[in-house]
Amino acid sequence: MSTTPATVGSAATAPDPARWKGWIPVIGLEVHCQLKTRTKLFCGCEYRFGAEPNTLTCAVCTAQPGALPVLNREALALAVRAGLALGAEIAPWSKFDRKNYFYCDLPKGYQISQFDRPYCKGGGITLANGHRIRLTRIHLEEDAGKAIHDRGAQTLVDLNRASVPLIESVTEADVRSPEEAHEYLDRLKEILQYAGASDCDMEKGSLRVDVNVSVHRPGEPWRKRVELKNLNSFRNVSAAIEHELARQIAIYESNDPSQQVVQETRLFDAQAGVTRSMRGKEEAHDYRYFPEPDLLPIEIDAAFLAEQRAALGELPEAKRARFQSELGLSEYDAGVLTSSPALSRWFEECARLCGSPKDAANWIQNEILRGLSAEQRPASAIAELRVTPAGLAELIGLAHKGTLNVPGARQVLRAMLETGKGAAALVQELGLEQVSDTGALEQWCREALVGKDKVIADVKAGKEKAIGALVGPVMKASKGKANPQVVTEILLRLVKELP
Ligand code: ADP
Ligand code: MG
Ligand code: ZN
Repeated sequence: MSTTPATVGSAATAPDPARWKGWIPVIGLEVHCQLKTRTKLFCGCEYRFGAEPNTLTCAVCTAQPGALPVLNREALALAVRAGLALGAEIAPWSKFDRKNYFYCDLPKGYQISQFDRPYCKGGGITLANGHRIRLTRIHLEEDAGKAIHDRGAQTLVDLNRASVPLIESVTEADVRSPEEAHEYLDRLKEILQYAGASDCDMEKGSLRVDVNVSVHRPGEPWRKRVELKNLNSFRNVSAAIEHELARQIAIYESNDPSQQVVQETRLFDAQAGVTRSMRGKEEAHDYRYFPEPDLLPIEIDAAFLAEQRAALGELPEAKRARFQSELGLSEYDAGVLTSSPALSRWFEECARLCGSPKDAANWIQNEILRGLSAEQRPASAIAELRVTPAGLAELIGLAHKGTLNVPGARQVLRAMLETGKGAAALVQELGLEQVSDTGALEQWCREALVGKDKVIADVKAGKEKAIGALVGPVMKASKGKANPQVVTEILLRLVKELP
């Protein structure tokens, strides 16, 4: 829509000129997110990913003659929350339009979308480097069904997804690198998840990204853009942008008139790491947009807005700030632990129960998240763990009290994750209770000192650290159950008592 070249950012955000041979990347993102409603946008059908094909349909979403759409209030509420969470302006008056095209997964022959009067304008996300990615608009629309082509000569159509509510958010072409695109998407996903608007689960198709890419010379007007589709992970989004930038730059640098960058849609082949032409780019007039006559315009009043604002809760940026200022976490830890609402809730509960946010943060990051892959880390995986926040808090408490030493606590946590049993029970079962009983420890310490004249002399000369060499043998004698701090204290005392 708006294609005025924006200023290229401050010196801090200016791209490295050598990386793209002096060309400046211009990138805009279009993101479709499925709203987390119980039912579809214009009918009462439920939607569940993976349901038996064509079982979640009715006369409206299969376009039977005479069937009429009715707007789902919950969808509008979630769309408005998404807009508010992104700092955008909610239009008091907007309307639906028909976007006409023919395809087998679109039984009406048109998609109900919003054309010139979207419900939401402006807003944006500021990246860590201070660069703001502005949103042009967000509009509400229905999804199409799914055409399944991989069944030999047949194409099958599943209309379960037809008319599921989507919001499409479109950025200004403010993005200046593949890394910025990735960061923008991470932030967008976080915000929409916290707002409760969408699961943003790419694997289930509830978040889909299209990218527009071009390059230009500093001070020159923007050039033709290429739209990239088929991007099924954020990693693929940045890889596709990287390849497309290189392809366009190579064409412009070749000065070969038989090679041109044309305005088109290209598909990214992640395996081959290349983009391939799919079709020429349609223009708005190809769709013969016109106002949807079967739906009333959307009017949003102050009360509805206030209701949605109140439902928003704490957004990730505010949460990150509070985790640092109130709970004393580092910026990095706060970033990791707010990366999904489920994870931040899990952490906060554990921190509250064990009374030590720092310990909770360390144990979650070092022992729990490390065992999960990057894809598993968000939302679902943490809820499916066999350890609860209370369970980890109990374990942290046992480590604090000195019942367990650190390696022992790690072992117990692994067993908790595997079996779902509680910490105290496992300490008993595994015989890991730390030995702090000085009688037993003193005996092992005396044995460890035998013949260690060099260490004894060093410690007596003031090099207390030398005692560390004897802690290991005592730990071994105790089968790892000794409290290393108590062992160190006893050893030092014994050395001092020696003549
Ligand atoms: P369409 O409806 O055809 O997809 P839009 O005007 O909605 O077109 O723009 C799609 C995206 O392309 C937006 O994110 C926009 O910022 C971006 N864009 C526009 N011009 C360029 C360009 N020259 N290079 C890269 N991206 C661009
Ligand atoms: Mg578009
Ligand atoms: Zn239906």
